[in-house]
Amino acid sequence: MKIAVVGAGIVGATCAYYLSKEDVELKVFDYGLGQATKASAGIISPWFSKRRNKAWYKMARMGAEFYLKLVKDLKNDGYSTDFYKQTGVYILKKDESKLQYLLSLAESRREVSAMIGDLKIVSKEDIKKNIPDFTGANYALYASGGGRIEGELFVKTLLEAAKVEVINKKVTLEIQQDKYIVDNEEFDKVILCTGAWLKEILEPLNFEVDVRPQKGQLRDYQISDSKSGTYPVIMPEGELDIIPFENGFLSMGASHENNMGFDLSVDKDLLNKFEEEATNFLPTLKKARVINERVGIRAYTNDFSVFYGLVPGEKNLFVASGLGSSGLTTGGIIAYNLAMLAVGKEELLDSSDYPTSRYIRKIKKF
Ligand SMILES: Cc1cc2nc3c(=O)[nH]c(=O)nc-3n(C[C@H](O)[C@H](O)[C@H](O)COP(=O)(O)OP(=O)(O)OC[C@H]3O[C@@H](n4cnc5c(N)ncnc54)[C@H](O)[C@@H]3O)c2cc1C
Repeated sequence: MKIAVVGAGIVGATCAYYLSKEDVELKVFDYGLGQATKASAGIISPWFSKRRNKAWYKMARMGAEFYLKLVKDLKNDGYSTDFYKQTGVYILKKDESKLQYLLSLAESRREVSAMIGDLKIVSKEDIKKNIPDFTGANYALYASGGGRIEGELFVKTLLEAAKVEVINKKVTLEIQQDKYIVDNEEFDKVILCTGAWLKEILEPLNFEVDVRPQKGQLRDYQISDSKSGTYPVIMPEGELDIIPFENGFLSMGASHENNMGFDLSVDKDLLNKFEEEATNFLPTLKKARVINERVGIRAYTNDFSVFYGLVPGEKNLFVASGLGSSGLTTGGIIAYNLAMLAVGKEELLDSSDYPTSRYIRKIKKF
């Protein structure tokens, strides 16, 4: 069986990795420009979300747990998994009395998700033991199971481990009875992991697609403390997050900009405002060296829900999109399920809870 995976962000790369363990002939196509995964320095900590969508929460908590399997699988295959670490997270609230409520919510969620780990409200002095420069809040909620991930390294590792040919170009799709044509080549099955660009590839085939782009920007720094690899992630209220990595590398962001289309320009004023806010918590950033600024495009649906499964009306054309700002958390498990669907094996989730028909509709031609 010949399968094409189009798009190699977290969904496409994870899908390719798990398909490479199956008896299939595989090819990956990826354009890469504006890819959300490469632009992201992500936090894996879904347990504090107040979203009421139960199907989404189930996917997000199982997605966080899925990292443990993914890391184990890659390690067994002999690959380094430095892209992921459970450093713990500090959650901050402007009104610190709300931390107690959040602690109770998290404790109730720990019953089905032990991965959340130790939970406690900690003081500034406690935080300073881990992050000497920390200031700006008197208390935080700490969860030891929270983690962070370096998107670009993650994808690179997965594609290396998949040992698959990756063709770096933008491709189109043709549907011919029971075959699919990608880049002038016939495939039995195609998996579209094209993120925010799903409309672009499906609309010429008379599909209406409810996926819109959202621009996200972040800035990377080099700080002088080489022990940053042990810092927990700092999550103040609002858009700002501070995500530390090894050897003084630290990312800060990210913006959520609607109505910017696929604009990939860096907005320095906006990033400067983020930096100003971030220095309230980590003054060392004032003298840190800026080493990179990244822009990526997330995919959103009208009701902010994610979807995956078969394209409506198609037997061998699979898709996932709409991962939004939690795609690093949900992307791995979605991709695994897509790979299993494509080879007719059992899913870990039930794709009917995330129906593609809500977001993709075939337009009838008269
Ligand atoms: C700045 C930023 C910070 C983020 N932080 C977090 C976080 O803290 N936690 C979290 O959980 N999530 C976070 N996210 C969200 C997460 O990164 C995304 O939801 C996720 O990476 C989306 O993955 P994807 O594989 O669906 O799409 P993408 O990573 O965008 O990959 C899609 C790929 O498909 C390719 N493609 C599209 N069309 C074609 C075509 N026709 N031919 C060939 N290739 C094509 C694109 O070029 C791209 O490379 C963040 C995102 C950004 C931008």
